[in-house]
Amino acid sequence: MLTRHFQHWPNRLPHSLIVPETGIVHNLEVSANRYPDKTAITYYGAELSYRELLEQVDHLAGFLQKELGVASGDRVLLFMQNAPQFVIAYYAIARVNAIVVPINPMHVTRELSFYIEDNEPKAAIVGQELYERVAPFNGQSSLEHVVVAAYNDYADPASDLPLPDVVKQSRQAIGDDYVTEWRDALAYKIKPDPVPFSLDDPVVLPYTSGTTGKPKGCVHTSKTVQANTVGAVHWGNASASGVVLSTLPFFHVTGMIHGMHVPIYSGGNMVLMTRWERETAARLIERYRCTHWTNISTMLVDFLSMPDITEWDLESLTYIGGGGAPLPRAVGEKLFELTGLRYAEGYGLSETIAQTHFNPPDRSKLQCLGIPSFDVDARIIDMDTLEELGEGETGEIVVNGPQVFKGYWRRPEETEKSFLTIDGKPFFRTGDIGRYDEEGYFFIVDRAKRMINASGYKVWPTEVESTLYKHPKVQSACVVGVPDSRRGETVKAFIVPTDQARDDVTAEEIIQWAKEQMAAYKYPRLVEFVDSLPMTASGKILWRVLQEKEWEKAKQK
Ligand code: AMP
Repeated sequence: MLTRHFQHWPNRLPHSLIVPETGIVHNLEVSANRYPDKTAITYYGAELSYRELLEQVDHLAGFLQKELGVASGDRVLLFMQNAPQFVIAYYAIARVNAIVVPINPMHVTRELSFYIEDNEPKAAIVGQELYERVAPFNGQSSLEHVVVAAYNDYADPASDLPLPDVVKQSRQAIGDDYVTEWRDALAYKIKPDPVPFSLDDPVVLPYTSGTTGKPKGCVHTSKTVQANTVGAVHWGNASASGVVLSTLPFFHVTGMIHGMHVPIYSGGNMVLMTRWERETAARLIERYRCTHWTNISTMLVDFLSMPDITEWDLESLTYIGGGGAPLPRAVGEKLFELTGLRYAEGYGLSETIAQTHFNPPDRSKLQCLGIPSFDVDARIIDMDTLEELGEGETGEIVVNGPQVFKGYWRRPEETEKSFLTIDGKPFFRTGDIGRYDEEGYFFIVDRAKRMINASGYKVWPTEVESTLYKHPKVQSACVVGVPDSRRGETVKAFIVPTDQARDDVTAEEIIQWAKEQMAAYKYPRLVEFVDSLPMTASGKILWRVLQEKEWEKAKQK
């Protein structure tokens, strides 16, 4: 008898996967048992074996639990760039059944205060260069303790692959009772007591924004994290003999799953980069014979445009894929010419802890989200009537699957609004407009939500606008995304200055001010002063009108 899925062929494929009913720490324990001496992490010339990785996770977990009193369900901020300590800290937090709150290391103190108020972390584990941004919260908020990690504790100082300058500095003692240095925390060396745990307990809270412009934590559990970790491995994104080049930031879901959980689950070696540098990436691929690389299109564009790209040995690569933003067709073609590999584009969101769609690596289509991944039921709905649409019709993409989050942290109303029921099942509304073709491949056409995708970093215009309104010379502001050859899209602000400022305000001063107020990927790189903003009769700013004009202008260039 045909299953329900077969009746819906081809847009909902019948592939299903049995995901082990275990937590992520179990994945590490299994790999450490099977391959104790194998390299788990390669970091600027140094290596850490699976045995060492598990040992350090245990020691840090012991410190968190016994010394800091971190208990089940407590939140712990993880505010650092990609480094071995990020991996160790993530698994140590999970080991005591606390919740990892990964924060983009570009965020400034003002932005951090929102996250700290929102999830009330008990402790924070931060990169040394970021400590100053967290310091003001010590003792002034829920934050009781900070562990500070120096990246060069793990890199080989003699390596010809040096750490990037920004994170190179050596450990400096920070004289503050609230602070423990990473090495001292690990020296604690007492294992944590076992903690009862359920597969539905939250593991990680990646933040995303939304139409309100306020970031929201997405509650992910062992079930959702494992679904996409195991799903990616079975889709061909990793293997035990795999050497994974981890270039995407771990605080974001794609880097977290594909660059960290996937190699640990499969017992592979993750080759880490703290900062994206294309030459270093090429050297790492050549030297460590990297096999798998999940990236973002802007990274690949930068990589392939290296003048000496054909001089590097990239033959070891067997899988190159990514998501978060569309890959320009010409870049996909160039990649194929150079490596014989088809870019396996994927699609997903923070709410789905990375992929809901994947291109099959051997049958991928360009500028396409792929087909629904294991156990995902994806449909297209009409945004007005909420009726389901068919093949080739354009509407909002909605998804049901094992990786869909449990809701937004402490925001039941917004959670409820983001789901709808079809055939008795909850479907998450992605806010992306798309369609599927006769073979069941999905394509993105537009966005219903107001979001700018700059190099894969998602900028929420309302958040930027609410900051701009604080500038004394700004009367009103509207932020839109405009095409950018390097970043895909970039942030532009249309500003109506106050009457008093009309003659003396400059774009440079607004840009410079905005740069100090927000993370580097968010501030407007372009500012245009206007006399008024287009509005509806009810006074709503017609941002789409401004945005569409910008895209038209770019087309004509
Ligand atoms: P985030 O929550 O940061 O992962 O952002 C999710 C959003 O990224 C989606 O809602 C899409 O708008 C966008 N996105 C993800 N994958 C793709 C892709 N392959 N092509 C175009 N946009 C994408």
